[in-house]
Amino acid sequence: QAALRYVAVSVGYDRTPVLTDVDLDLRPGQRLALVGPNGAGKSTLIKSVLGLAPILAGRASVLGADPAAARGRAGYVPQTDTLDADFPVSVRQVVMMGRYRRIGWWRPARAADRRAVAEALDRVGLAGRAGHRFGTLSGGQRQRVLLARAIAAEPRLLLLDEPFNGVDAVSQEAIVAVLRQLSAEGTALVLSTHDLGVARELADLVCLVNGRQWAVGPPGETLTAD
Ligand code: ADP
Ligand code: ADP
Repeated sequence: QAALRYVAVSVGYDRTPVLTDVDLDLRPGQRLALVGPNGAGKSTLIKSVLGLAPILAGRASVLGADPAAARGRAGYVPQTDTLDADFPVSVRQVVMMGRYRRIGWWRPARAADRRAVAEALDRVGLAGRAGHRFGTLSGGQRQRVLLARAIAAEPRLLLLDEPFNGVDAVSQEAIVAVLRQLSAEGTALVLSTHDLGVARELADLVCLVNGRQWAVGPPGETLTAD
């Protein structure tokens, strides 16, 4: 079963398409990088998969369901951390929020959930920071916590919006390593990035320009942009 399948999909707000004619077919474990200039529609494409941007035309299936029905089943690492740095919450609590997305908000966390949270933090190399206040971490560390939050829900499809923006080299390396592991375990990945180098190294490329899908290529393939 495809993790993500788009056939001639258009996405837009207020009935004006931002993206037109997008075709995607992502299998378990496959990695896709969305590249292209600012305003090309990368974020909008990610939001459409999460059911946060309306699909105007075409056929879309996310983990075998309509994106609206699949809402919350795909993991998401947002572009900038939406958590206020002053918000008095520990790293562990942030990751537990991701776990609750999987278990449902109504039941108390059990030992297995606390274990899943600890494992997610361990994977991103921040086990030692569990009790720290989220806002005291560096930008790169906060990005890794947000990745741990998504992992704690054990999604089969994970979307990351510019995961390397404002992230130091150490954190970027840690994130790339975790993404490779997740992919090897069968998690399908979609990430947007301005960094063509890391995109090529990590994933198949989908190039978006002006809301149009421009090219698709295997990792390492040169995109000739003229
Ligand atoms: P990228 O992530 O590639 O920089 P975006 O998906 O953020 O591109 O934006 C693509 C286009 O969609 C832009 O022209 C932007 O102005 C428009 N857009 C993004 N979000 C909204 C919104 N909530 N309502 C209307 N237009 C939007
Ligand atoms: P609702 O309250 O309708 O269930 P969601 O919890 O789906 O709303 O989404 C609220 C916000 O949470 C979204 O705007 C999005 O930025 C964020 N979010 C975090 N993780 C996810 C995810 N896996 N799927 C969808 N939205 C997510």
